[in-house]
Amino acid sequence: SAIGADQSGPAKRLTVLSGPSGVGKSTVVREIRERHPEVWLSVSVTTRPPRPRETDGVEYHFVTDAEFDRMIAEGGLLEWAEFAGNRYGTPRAPVEERLRAGVPVLLEIDLQGARQVRENMPGAFHVFLAPPSWEELVRRLTGRGTESAEVVQRRLDTARVELAAEKEFDRTLTNTSVEDVRDELLALILAPQM
Ligand code: 5GP
Repeated sequence: SAIGADQSGPAKRLTVLSGPSGVGKSTVVREIRERHPEVWLSVSVTTRPPRPRETDGVEYHFVTDAEFDRMIAEGGLLEWAEFAGNRYGTPRAPVEERLRAGVPVLLEIDLQGARQVRENMPGAFHVFLAPPSWEELVRRLTGRGTESAEVVQRRLDTARVELAAEKEFDRTLTNTSVEDVRDELLALILAPQM
């Protein structure tokens, strides 16, 4: 029966990790990449330039604006969003291939992207990564204090709005320790699909 097949078959859940900027999503994802090859991590395309120590094809596929436009036009992106002046998107085909093969897939995307996945792929499980406290997020966002008070204020206003998105998610994980969050997230990713 279909139920029996679900119980014996591999987990094949699509998990979305999202949350406010500055909360530490990419650190958690790096941990999963380095220690859990059984999870397939979607590699996004982005028009932003690589940072030092980023490798094309690992953290991102770095593309030109024209290439990004072409991917949108061809329907090649599952979702995409503009964030801080650059565009980011999830290539559709590799995700669909893995899910068909029963491989658990993790997307780390911003809140706008998470909303699109919620609309387009109703079976996905959405995890919100929250800061330990508002004060901690303020501390991380204000960073070294090199930015103008106005820029800092704008980032804080954005963060306040982003925190309110938590209620749209299936589950919240609080980023008190990266190891704890990694293990909790892994358990959710590998849980059999409901
Ligand atoms: P960063 O430039 O710091 O690597 O990423 C900036 C933001 O873009 C982060 O919030 C990250 O989660 C988000 N992001 C990365 N890849 C994608 C993607 O494919 N789609 C969307 N919507 N957001 C993404």
